[in-house]
Amino acid sequence: MFYVKEQLNDAMEVSIEINDENVFCRCPHCGSEVQVDFADVFADGDVDLFGTAVLCDNCSRKLMGGAACGCEQV
Ligand SMILES: [Zn+2]
Repeated sequence: MFYVKEQLNDAMEVSIEINDENVFCRCPHCGSEVQVDFADVFADGDVDLFGTAVLCDNCSRKLMGGAACGCEQV
């Protein structure tokens, strides 16, 4: 499994398992919170955590002119 680890202070450290429900990013267009399925991101084959952005449903729908498919690369 993957998990994030953050040192809160000298005495405390938290480890949080990454799953398909607790990974989020901001939509690059409207700034709303988007839940990210890491399996989808990794499926692209070219993973760049800093260069990858995930559009929210609204923006991806707008950008694709109403197409139902949500698979366009950002
Ligand atoms: Zn958006």
